[in-house]
Amino acid sequence: MLAAWYATAQRPLPWRAEPSLYRTVVSELMAQQTQIKTMLPYFKRWMQRFPNFTTLADAPAEDVLKHWEGLGYYSRARNLHRLAKEYVALNPKPATREEWQRLPGIGPYPSAAITSIALGQPAAVVDGNVVRILARLTDDAHIFKNNGEAVKAFTARADDLLDNKNPGDHNQAMMELGATVCLKHKPLCTVCPVLKFCVSNKNDNQDELPKIERKTTVQVEIDRAWIIEGDKLLLHRIPESAGQLAGQYELPELSAVKARTSPQLIASKSRSITHRRIKEYIYETTVAGIDDSLEWVALEQLEAITLSGPHRRWIRELLKGQ
Ligand code: SF4
Repeated sequence: MLAAWYATAQRPLPWRAEPSLYRTVVSELMAQQTQIKTMLPYFKRWMQRFPNFTTLADAPAEDVLKHWEGLGYYSRARNLHRLAKEYVALNPKPATREEWQRLPGIGPYPSAAITSIALGQPAAVVDGNVVRILARLTDDAHIFKNNGEAVKAFTARADDLLDNKNPGDHNQAMMELGATVCLKHKPLCTVCPVLKFCVSNKNDNQDELPKIERKTTVQVEIDRAWIIEGDKLLLHRIPESAGQLAGQYELPELSAVKARTSPQLIASKSRSITHRRIKEYIYETTVAGIDDSLEWVALEQLEAITLSGPHRRWIRELLKGQ
């Protein structure tokens, strides 16, 4: 039933209009922690530059990161790059969910999505959207410590519900239902294809489910330095050992520079990453000398290097105001 609804209700998503294993892999990794409407232009650009596993495997790491810039969570780009290299080298190619899970960045969710959508295998996807739908359908008021615990708890129910004849369409329908109908707040129950089965709709408690304990919000404050000399901006290159943001540039922390003149506050920026609320204060100053972790980058080179998403935005704004 869900697969039939999906056939009529789906949004015009490019990887579904022209399906392939590679497009499914890229779209699944790109869509993690990113809204579909945000990722669409990135997906299009990515496909133009890296149209298949081989092109991606052969591309320099810098180029791969550059095409991911703005999407955040860069470990996904690095994993996708490593995955392409391993996939190209593998013979025979991975065919089962277990084999896919041995590739970089492929956990339970993407392996289920890839093998069901691209290979037609019966594996149910379970993420926050699916948990929300299932908790509401069954009016499950259990309190979960976190998303991971909820995903584990609903996996068996998701497998029971899976349409084994059309597992890919069923999974995509669940994703679509969670993204467009069974919304976190104010779900659109009147147009929901599973309304008649939904117990929480009957009990009118949809907005309260699922019950997942919230992480305490952590406030973080960071002072950054804005230092221009001639036509160069001082930046910090995040070391390879840093994991997530390795290899990207950002404005240096004020504590990392030996300021020659008294720092003047020129901007303050706020952002949130999961449960962290980050306030960053940007100070203009000058320096006497710099150490190896910092680099002078020519202003005309800024578009060519990989800057962390918010830092690129701030730098553009500050340069405009100079
Ligand atoms: Fe979600 Fe409403 Fe559909 Fe129930 S009826 S699954 S709460 S959209």
